[in-house]
This record gives sequence, structure tokens and C-alpha cells, in this order.
Amino acid sequence: MALAILARRRAVETVRRHAAAASSAWRGYATSGEESDVVVLGGGPGGYVAAIKAAQLGLKTTCIEKRGTLGGTCLNVGCIPSKLLRCADAVPVVQALLHSSHMYHEAKTSFAHHGVKISNLEVDLPAMMAQKDKAVAGLTKGIEGLFKKNKVTYVKGFGKLASPSEVSVDLIDGGSTVVKGKNIIIATGSDVKSLPGITIDEKKIVSSTGALCLSEIPKKLVVIGAGYIGLEMGSVWNRLGSEVTVVEFAPDIVPSMDGEIRKQFQRMLEKQKMKFMLKTKVVGVDTSGDGVKLTVEPAAGGEQSTLEADIVLVSAGRTPYTSGIGLETIGVETDKAGRILVDKRFMTNVNGVFAIGDAIPGPMLAHKAEEDGVACVEFIAGKEGHVDYDTVPGVVYTHPEVASVGKTEEQVKAEGIAYRVGKFPLLANSRAKAIDDAEGLVKVVADKETDKILGVHIMAPNAGEIIHEAVLALQYGASSEDVARTCHAHPTVSEALKEACLQTFSKAIHI
Ligand SMILES: Cc1cc2nc3c(=O)[nH]c(=O)nc-3n(C[C@H](O)[C@H](O)[C@H](O)COP(=O)(O)OP(=O)(O)OC[C@H]3O[C@@H](n4cnc5c(N)ncnc54)[C@H](O)[C@@H]3O)c2cc1C
Repeated sequence: MALAILARRRAVETVRRHAAAASSAWRGYATSGEESDVVVLGGGPGGYVAAIKAAQLGLKTTCIEKRGTLGGTCLNVGCIPSKLLRCADAVPVVQALLHSSHMYHEAKTSFAHHGVKISNLEVDLPAMMAQKDKAVAGLTKGIEGLFKKNKVTYVKGFGKLASPSEVSVDLIDGGSTVVKGKNIIIATGSDVKSLPGITIDEKKIVSSTGALCLSEIPKKLVVIGAGYIGLEMGSVWNRLGSEVTVVEFAPDIVPSMDGEIRKQFQRMLEKQKMKFMLKTKVVGVDTSGDGVKLTVEPAAGGEQSTLEADIVLVSAGRTPYTSGIGLETIGVETDKAGRILVDKRFMTNVNGVFAIGDAIPGPMLAHKAEEDGVACVEFIAGKEGHVDYDTVPGVVYTHPEVASVGKTEEQVKAEGIAYRVGKFPLLANSRAKAIDDAEGLVKVVADKETDKILGVHIMAPNAGEIIHEAVLALQYGASSEDVARTCHAHPTVSEALKEACLQTFSKAIHI
């Protein structure tokens, strides 16, 4: 199986190398001191990784970033001037707050079971935020260091495409300049999506950016949207003591998740005291009083009711950041949602102009943007580049975490594929039992005839780490038997994946 994959990849690589070589031949590489081989517009995880990789491949590279700090939405989610509080680095910020709030929650609810007694436990929110800011500042500075190390020219300012080989930049420090490039990569990412009739003021009605920077723990928090960001942010404030209600238009939370896992996940969040109003829409918002009054009604229409909150978090998805950056000046095509259309080599309809990350179709995830960035510059450099969107893992960083890769059971069924399912509950995993953290399960979906793994779905502590074994399995076309016959260290939660695979092709040992 592995050899066949290798042979197929080599064939694809040869075809791509020819195509990429043709592409770079259109423009050639820079020889003058002024012009770059690659100009990257946007310094998020897609853009900064593309810039570093391009420099590593020997291309003269410039990266333009409007915020003044690198890392994008993932690394610079913005700041709230009224509070003079910088909320840099969305992903690590969320991670830091999820970890801190989890520690508090564990201390409050679990330590006593383990014989650890604590009195006068309290949350010091400013200290928690300061810890997060410190961690994030270190990370953002680290990228600037990597730019210096790899000799990437960093231009701080707002860039606009002026021609297929020029970006005009309004510099942060004043004035303007034109950056010239043989190839331009648009990596402008995405922005918060609002909802009709709801104005995000980042005070009472906040986006994820504002929810990362609250200066007080809200007594009542309403989250509009039960996607992964809404649930993670809801979890943070729920653990810190907020009464959290999640309002969702759809009948389910995180619709892309495997149905069985999703049901258990919702039950687990409800056990943690988060409330859900599914099939419900917000039809009115009143911010005139101290808090916010939301008018809600069933998604299909019906009787209205009122929800009161101190803070409302609007978490209804993200929208590509592609307007106002000069796409129309040079004729770059987008779809109806504003996503830039690219071919398999990440090139737009304009020769030499590429796009990656949240600005193009595909999962809006930092690691996908990074993979896009690497593959895109590999193509520009005349090499092979490859991203398989079917094996991009997704993780919800609640506790326990929920991680998945590949197809859900519902997808496999809808595609008419004959399949087998193997499941293993964490209650039967010795490590999870020993640490008293046995909520969850591992579910494997495999092709009935070939036993090839089609999807893996894990709800477990550290599922976001365990999932990579499954990602590798899918990447190499492994069968459930391949994983089941692979020796796993004992006692580990990863053994639950081995057991679920055993259960898929034969029988699990420990249930
Ligand atoms: C709260 C939150 C939590 C998240 N958690 C996760 C997670 O746990 N895991 C995960 O994988 N993903 C997560 N994401 C998604 C992740 O942040 C994005 O998928 C990722 O940042 C996309 O990278 P990007 O480089 O395409 O775009 P972005 O990160 O949006 O970066 C684009 C950059 O381009 C700059 N820019 C835009 N226009 C211009 C211009 N004209 N001139 C100069 N610069 C410009 C912007 O300032 C920005 O810095 C989260 C997002 C949010 C909001």
C-alpha cells in the first residue's frame, strides 16, 4: 500500500514539477536588489510560514503586514483600544485561557477527589490575562526573530495590489512605498462575521477578539453560534463562573462533527453546566439598559422569548478578508463568499498571483493555512507541493478535547460506501480511569472491504495530540488492522485508539 502511494506521489510530483517550472519561467527570479522573488501580503500563519519557507528555498522574500506584529488572526487578533489591552495571538490566547481556566476548574471540582484540599480558591483575572499576554508576546516576537534569521524583509503597513507584480503599501509609520515582486502571495486571512441586525461593539456585544479580553467575569454570557470557537470561548468563561447559554440556529452543535461524538460532546458540556438553545434564532437585540436583552424565537418561527446577558459573544463564523486589497484592480476572481479562487498550485486567474489560507476555500484553520503556504512557495520555486485537505485534522480544545480527521459515519453513509465502525469507551482505558478523566470515546470508520481507515473521531483528554496517529494512518492509507497491530505504550490514552481499531477489524481486548 505504502509503495503504491509513493509511486503515485512521484508521478504527480513529476507532472507538478513541470507545471511549476513553467510557472516560474513566466516571471523568473529577481536579480535586482529592489525586486523580490516572492512578496507575501499578510503575516498570519499562512503568510509568515510561506515567507520563511520561500527564504529557505533561496528566494528573495518580502512580507507585508498591516498590524505591526506578525502572526495574523492566529497571532494578532487585534486590540481593544478602549481598554488599552492588546489581545495578541488568538490561537495561543485561547489556549492559554483554556488551560488557565481548566486549572481553576480542576482545582475547584476535582482536586478534592484526589486528596488535594484547597481553601480560599479564587480567580485573579488580571493575573490570568497577564500570563496569557506574556506567553503571546514571546511567541509573536519569536516570528520576527525567524524573519531576521531567514533574511525575510518585513514591511509594516497596509498593502494593496497595484499591478500583478506591485503592491502599494501605506506604511504604519507614515508615508507609502511600492513593493515589487516576481510572484505575489495573497495571505490576507479572514475577519469576524457579524449577523444581520447585530452590531459588534466589543463592549457588551463582542466577537471572539473581545471575548478574549474581558476585564470582568460576566455573570451571564450568551454565545450566538455553536461552532468550535463559540464552544471554546463559552467553556473558558463557564469554568470561570459565568452562566453560559449557547444559541444556535442549526439543530446541532458543530455540524461538521460525527453525529454520535457530537451528542456525547453536547451531553458533556451540559454536564459542565453550559446550556444550549438549538434550532433558535436571535431576532432582536436591546443594549439600552445595563446588560443586553436578546429576543429569540424558534428557527422555524413561533413564540418569542427574552434572554438576558451581561455580555453577548457573536461567534457566527469568519469571512475572508479580500475586499479593499486591490483584487479588482488586477482582476483576481473570487467566489460569492469573497474567497479567492485558485488552481491546484494556489495560483489565481492572474499569472504570478497566488492566494492561500483563510482567503481561499478550504478549512479555516491555522495549520491548513501553513500547509498552503509551504506548498505554494514550493510550486513557485519549481518544486513539488502538496496539501491534502481530506487529512486536515480538526480539534475543539474544550475538556475533554474533541478531535477528528477524515470522514464522519454520516458522510460515509451518504456516499454509499460499505463501512465498519469500531468504538472504544474511555471508561475502559486504564490511563483515563487512573487519572479520573474517563469521559469520552474513540470511534473509527473503515472501509468494509479493504479495512482502509476513512475517519477517526476522538473525544478524550489530549485528543488533539492523539489524533496525529490517525492523521498519519489516513495519510499513508493504513487499515484499522495496521494501527491495531502497532505496539502502543501502556498505560496511555492512545491505547484507546488501538483498541477502537481492534474493534473495527476484529474484537477489542479490554471490553
Ligand atoms: C478565536 C479564534 C480561535 C481560533 N482557534 C484556532 C485553533 O485552535 N486552531 C486553528 O487551526 N485555527 C484556529 N483559528 C483560525 C486561525 O486563526 C485561522 O485559520 C488562521 O489564522 C488563518 O491564517 P491566515 O494566515 O490565512 O490568515 P490570518 O491569520 O487572518 O492572517 C492574515 C494577516 O494578513 C494581514 N493583512 C490582511 N490584509 C492585509 C493588507 N492589505 N496588508 C497587510 N496585511 C494584511 C492581517 O492583519 C493578518 O495579520 C482560530 C481563530 C479565532 C478567531
